[in-house]
Amino acid sequence: MDLAQRDHNVIWHPYTQMKTAALPIPIVRGEGALLFAEDGTTYIDAVASWWVNLHGHAHPHIAQRVAEQLNTLEHVIFAGFTHPAAVELAERLIQILPQNQKRAFYSDNGSTAVEVAIKMAIQYWNNVGEPKRKIIALRDSYHGDTFGAMAVSSRSTFTAPFWSYLFDVKFIDVPVPGEEEESIKQLEAIAIAGGAAAFIFEPLVLGTAGMVMYTPEVLDRLMGICQKYNILTIADEVMTGFGRTGRTFASHYLQHQPDIMCFSKGLTGGTMALGLTTCSNQMYEAFLHHDKSKTFFHGHSYTGNPIACAAGLASLDLLLKEETQQSINRIVEQHTQFAEKVKQLQYVKETRQQGTILAVEFEAGGTSYFSNLRDTLYNFALQQGVLLRPLGNIIYIIPPYCITNEQLQQVYQTILGMHGLVEEAQ
Ligand SMILES: *Cc1c(COP(=O)(O)O)cnc(C)c1O
Repeated sequence: MDLAQRDHNVIWHPYTQMKTAALPIPIVRGEGALLFAEDGTTYIDAVASWWVNLHGHAHPHIAQRVAEQLNTLEHVIFAGFTHPAAVELAERLIQILPQNQKRAFYSDNGSTAVEVAIKMAIQYWNNVGEPKRKIIALRDSYHGDTFGAMAVSSRSTFTAPFWSYLFDVKFIDVPVPGEEEESIKQLEAIAIAGGAAAFIFEPLVLGTAGMVMYTPEVLDRLMGICQKYNILTIADEVMTGFGRTGRTFASHYLQHQPDIMCFSKGLTGGTMALGLTTCSNQMYEAFLHHDKSKTFFHGHSYTGNPIACAAGLASLDLLLKEETQQSINRIVEQHTQFAEKVKQLQYVKETRQQGTILAVEFEAGGTSYFSNLRDTLYNFALQQGVLLRPLGNIIYIIPPYCITNEQLQQVYQTILGMHGLVEEAQ
């Protein structure tokens, strides 16, 4: 029996309707931006394997650092003990994060990084003796799939069975260009009403919503309101972190500094699962007390895993290299040129770009129309040797930084071909 069939007999895949899904494609090797399938087909990984991969697959520098770590220390309990990789990674990140970020709390993935952030914010207000209950979020946001993360995420069909179990969240509209004032008004009204503990947001780009983008200027205004009304700000940089937006962190575009930040995805260059929540000294100090009930009682078995931290260090070495910064700038330029071109096409409603992230939104002729077309477009891209996962009528590219110009051209050509299919389907 081949691998796909064996998989089909025992595995339940994420975000997959197992009744109708095609058999999964067995991948046996990766190198640079390419994935090699068992049958010899290659795919350009234009979505960085769910937005995690920064420097290409099986990168030798990361592989070597991880191998060394495996042969030295694979794991150690992270309460009462520590190890060099966790300390060095935190030190190096704190140097490049917004200046107020002074403490690093490790976990396992993006959702746990968000859980930690929300729990920190709520307990902060308890610890300082001013309990506040409300959490504010952007209406179409995505912060993960665990319960707390789902609660602060959009109330979509994905989470519908759980709605009644999710804590109450005050949602404000995403301040997309032209609709900034409405969001500002909504946030102000909630702030004035009082009792708001924190505002959580995906800075500049809402990924799962369809790479929906808004400006640093309006985010600064929202953060200014939070500051004025003593509402903590939580920047979820799980997707935007580590160069994606053109700067190392999306928060580097802002005047204000968030109180808490969340990271995962690119944190290890896409090699290991690792989550990180960082915070300011003001946050941290509210947990220092002789009274043990003020402790942050949260942790995971694999907190601060040395192999994951080693991958993080190796990825950071690569990210900060001049060569990588040049690649990021190159991708930004190529995207901009392609966006200019594709924008002219009849069935392209809009293009959006923030750094290395490019979204092309096709005209949607009704939702059912696009739910079928989505699969056609996905399969068409695979036939062209390109991995692109459309979000409905939105196609996006979020490539590893090592992708070559030739590979980018192949991805762009595939998107032009998709436009042809959209046209035919009219
Ligand atoms: C992917 C994502 C998460 C969840 O991360 P997981 O590692 O998949 O749990 C949280 N926030 C944002 C902005 C994300 O894009």
